[in-house]
Amino acid sequence: MKVRVGISLCLLGHPVRYDGRDKFDPLPARELAEWIEWVPVCPETEFGLPTPREPIQLEDDPDRPELRGVRSGTCLSCAMRAFCRRRALELGNLGLAGFVFKAKSPSCGLHTAVHRGEAIVGYAPGLFAAAWMELHPELPAVEAEALHDPAVLGEFLAKLKIEQ
Ligand code: SF4
Repeated sequence: MKVRVGISLCLLGHPVRYDGRDKFDPLPARELAEWIEWVPVCPETEFGLPTPREPIQLEDDPDRPELRGVRSGTCLSCAMRAFCRRRALELGNLGLAGFVFKAKSPSCGLHTAVHRGEAIVGYAPGLFAAAWMELHPELPAVEAEALHDPAVLGEFLAKLKIEQ
């Protein structure tokens, strides 16, 4: 039986990014699909943002960043935090064994840049990744890019109890 694992939807080739493109990664999308039943999630489009859309970024305090539109400065922090918490709770009921996130995203990344003006002042999880890890700290979470390192991949699969 396959193990159920969450994944950022754009990694499976769905064009849901702010620029209307995807971030297809053949490692999870094809190679790991033999053992894993992916449960795809796109927090930004599920929240109701259109595609394409204005890029958003984490800003100000790396310990509790705000989420704002890069050009407009529109603040989505409160509404997006509430949505992400609800969604992470719902997903917890699906029996997921872990999560694979898209790196560098203000919603899905695990170590995403936090901006203040032109400067990067630190790194923080995106708002959905933060909510997921807060509610499910016992489950393994990794960025897809990191899985291309065989040691990281082996460790992640071991935590999922998958034997290759
Ligand atoms: S990184 Fe996350 S929020 Fe951004 S497009 Fe991919 S799934 Fe959606």
